[in-house]
Amino acid sequence: MSAQKNVPGGAVVCRVAIDGPAGAGKSTVAKAVAARLAIEYIDTGAMYRAVGLKLLAEGIGTGPADAERRARMLAETEIDFTDGRVYLDGRDVSGDIRTDEISRMASACSALPAVREKLVALQRAMGERKSVLMDGRDIGSNVFPNAEFKFFLTAAPRERARRRFLELQKKDARISFERVLADIEQRDYDDSHRALHPLVRADGAHEIDSTDMCADEVTELVLGIIRGGPLA
Ligand code: C5P
Repeated sequence: MSAQKNVPGGAVVCRVAIDGPAGAGKSTVAKAVAARLAIEYIDTGAMYRAVGLKLLAEGIGTGPADAERRARMLAETEIDFTDGRVYLDGRDVSGDIRTDEISRMASACSALPAVREKLVALQRAMGERKSVLMDGRDIGSNVFPNAEFKFFLTAAPRERARRRFLELQKKDARISFERVLADIEQRDYDDSHRALHPLVRADGAHEIDSTDMCADEVTELVLGIIRGGPLA
């Protein structure tokens, strides 16, 4: 990597931020890039999903009436990443969080200040002393505004819905494309209009439109930029 940062204790770290809307291909590209750079990949969306899962399981809503119960729940919640799996209070929930219902719950709870405060603090701690690649919505703009490399990955809404549809169809053959598209458009709107840390292209982020690109092409483009390629 061509840019790194010295941290106390003599270590050298590099933070790579990949932000963008749902279905832009962030996690596929992020996993591949992190593997090639031999650094840890942290899927921050999975952290919001894990909180959404716990809220749902405990019957706690996202409205003001449940604020106290949510605060108590959050204080007792542990979220960890090990070998690409996400653990909620010690239980591997990597499979359970990939449903439509949890997508909507994650989006709703991600607008709550107490939830963002907790997860952003955890994310900053994870990238403090080791090199990480994080993907999400606010990594380059808020979690690591000084990240050594920032990317903003987009694609046309219909293409993002098509990709998400193919993925969800493997689990539920009855799923409708129109429903997936409507969900993506709603999440785009909610994620980019919330008051706190909305989805934006961070200052200095390289924007990549992946509508007509496959994941391998995007991966090579990102690696080329990180390694100081022609577009750097
Ligand atoms: O990326 P993914 O679709 O798994 O994220 C689920 C939800 O979590 C998003 O719709 C968004 O509302 C929220 N999120 C966020 N900030 C992040 C990552 C995800 O608000 N850094």
